[in-house]
Amino acid sequence: MKALKGFKDIIPGEVETWQFIEQTARSIFHRFTFSEIKVPVLEKTKLFTRSIGETTDIVEKEMYTFPDRNGSSLTMRPEGTAPVLRAYIENGLHAVKPVQKLYTIGPMFRHERPQKGRLRQFHQMSVEVLGEDNPLLDAEVMAMAWQIMKELGLTASLEINSLGCKECRPDFNRALLDFLDKANGLCDDCVRRRETNPLRVLDCKSSNCQEQYVQAPSILDFLCGGCDEHFKAVKNGLDMLSVPYKVNSFMVRGLDYYTRTTFELVTSDLGAQSAVGAGGRYDGLVKQLGGPDVPGIGFAMGVERLALLLDQLGKGVHSNGIDLFIAALGPEAQKKAFVLMNVLRGKGLSVSMDLMDRSLKNQMKQAGKAEASYVLIVGEQELANGEAVLRNMETHDQHQIAIKEAVKMWHEDLATFFATETTK
Ligand code: ATP
Ligand code: MG
Repeated sequence: MKALKGFKDIIPGEVETWQFIEQTARSIFHRFTFSEIKVPVLEKTKLFTRSIGETTDIVEKEMYTFPDRNGSSLTMRPEGTAPVLRAYIENGLHAVKPVQKLYTIGPMFRHERPQKGRLRQFHQMSVEVLGEDNPLLDAEVMAMAWQIMKELGLTASLEINSLGCKECRPDFNRALLDFLDKANGLCDDCVRRRETNPLRVLDCKSSNCQEQYVQAPSILDFLCGGCDEHFKAVKNGLDMLSVPYKVNSFMVRGLDYYTRTTFELVTSDLGAQSAVGAGGRYDGLVKQLGGPDVPGIGFAMGVERLALLLDQLGKGVHSNGIDLFIAALGPEAQKKAFVLMNVLRGKGLSVSMDLMDRSLKNQMKQAGKAEASYVLIVGEQELANGEAVLRNMETHDQHQIAIKEAVKMWHEDLATFFATETTK
């Protein structure tokens, strides 16, 4: 039996990089005063069709949608914003705090063609801020994404754009349609998008279409006064925080709910999967989903792509290491070591040992694999004298020491314990 295509196990040796990514992000989310929210992976289909948009690639081609046993249509979440907003509304979180800063980490599901950095079950760390429309917040949120990259030791470039609002976007749509009337040789998808959702053409992955769209009108020339001012203030905010960015007026993002600011963190190191994170403002979406009329902004970063980047740079983490490996030789030593291991674990150390009477050589190998900081070698003879050999695995120094002393190094009261145990 094999896992489904595009679904991947994250095994020991790989999972440590994931933990590093997640711990780094959690620490930064905390510093930026975000609270965690956990939401289900399964939702009613209409939550996504309504928010992401009926004529987006995600809804048209990528969702895992199926009837529940009672016939209602359910969807494995393809993204996190809609479920978090549903939860925000359902739990009345707007009444708890005027501004809610939320983050969630977990799997998303999209039926795409699996390739490097593109899975069918992938993982996002995503954030949403609800209840604040100050453009400084847009800059703050991007600065947070930037900080995550920085603390992971990764570089990407931040591209930003504004998609305007319902006041000014129709003007741009008209100009875009005029332009598309004159374009020829567009792919079938774009011909269809022209009718259903013209803005979506700019997100087309076909190089022939992309070559033509270089000449397309820029949405930034069509922003209304409010949107123009907002965008200027966002750029100003990024300057204030010394976060470098590039304006990319062709970036439209694949979801319909975005208004005004959109952004992507792009890298040239992942081939076609160039976006490691993306997001934007979605004023109006909470209301559209049946909640209060509060503005919102958010982004999501892809954990797989971050892990790939770290591995490519040799910055992946493959082991968490343990504090101590106890190599016991002989049945008596093993019994003592077994008890000692449990007590030390209770005191906060990560400790391991072998229970199969393997040779010292083999046990040392295990200690090396476990990346133990120290090995305590307990032989029958030494044990009789209350002694053992403590080896520092980094410096390779080793000393014959009283077990009492060895234990003291980690914890005072263990010394007493071990002293009485060994003199019995
Ligand atoms: P792409 O253009 O690469 O398809 P997207 O615009 O569909 O990305 P978003 O919906 O904005 O991506 O999701 C945010 C982030 O989630 C992406 O920047 C990426 O890191 C990650 N991501 C999206 N889809 C996948 C996938 N199928 N496999 C792995 N990571 C993904
Ligand atoms: Mg996509």
